[in-house]
Amino acid sequence: MTTIREVGPVTLGDAGPQSAWFDVRSLEPGVFLIAEPGHVNSFLVVGDDRAVLLDTGLGVADIRAVAEGLSGKPLSVVNTHYHFDHTGGNRQFDQIAIHRDGAALLAQPAPEGLAQGYMEYTRRMISAWGGYKDLDDSYFHLVTADTLIRPLPPGFDPQAYAVTPSKATQLLDDGDELDLGGRVLRVMHTPGHSPDSICLLDEHNGLLFGGDTINTGPIYAQLEGSDVTAFAASTRRLAGLRDGVRRVFVCHFMRVDNPSSLLAEIADGFEQLLAGTASYRDNADCLGYPVREACFDHFSVFVAGDAGGTRV
Ligand SMILES: [Zn+2]
Ligand SMILES: [Zn+2]
Repeated sequence: MTTIREVGPVTLGDAGPQSAWFDVRSLEPGVFLIAEPGHVNSFLVVGDDRAVLLDTGLGVADIRAVAEGLSGKPLSVVNTHYHFDHTGGNRQFDQIAIHRDGAALLAQPAPEGLAQGYMEYTRRMISAWGGYKDLDDSYFHLVTADTLIRPLPPGFDPQAYAVTPSKATQLLDDGDELDLGGRVLRVMHTPGHSPDSICLLDEHNGLLFGGDTINTGPIYAQLEGSDVTAFAASTRRLAGLRDGVRRVFVCHFMRVDNPSSLLAEIADGFEQLLAGTASYRDNADCLGYPVREACFDHFSVFVAGDAGGTRV
């Protein structure tokens, strides 16, 4: 039996022991966060007739059981883009929609070493977590129930983790509307992070699902397929929505739920990048590749490091 509060944490009674991997909460009526804290956030949007799962996460635990337990409606997947951390659970679903520029990318084998590189990052993060939590308990008190880093789920073998290609059953274009019954999500093609990146706009309720286009930690603009100029144009377009958006939900890092002011901040940040007025520091992305990081108040942007090399 699933207990659903209108807003707040959700208790999952029937999704199996792996459900402890996910932090699940109701963000507002018909909108759920299914988070893999520290990794990636997926969202379930439920209409009167059907539900869509926006991304399927890493694929290390049973996200379909969680989503079905919450929605009780026919369920399909919309991927915000083809990257493995948003499509890892696609294999559990029959109906998968993605922007048409992502279909071939979704179906291709993942770059060698990607899955194991990410598991190594996960190992480092979990090992660093203990010290971080101790400092938080003593001094900072920022960590909350929904930002706890979890151990990998029982029965999951990180050495066997693999990124599996999947097949799109529906191709999306800019302006397409997904009618869920009493709730419509509009597709906005926002290339930049990847050629196929989309955001989903629930205009009636003032909600924007930002995919990997809008983020609150490092925004990845250094990858193979990333395009900083296109990214700037996409974020400026999103900034134009500002007055019609109440909440911006993002896929990475702990600040999931953001005010619409973030949209203009990010568009302004990309303009500084293009104008050459941003300042950078050296950093490394989650796979350990060198990047240059331009830091702003509520986010940063990774661009390709001096060593060159663009990666997925
Ligand atoms: Zn991505
Ligand atoms: Zn991502």
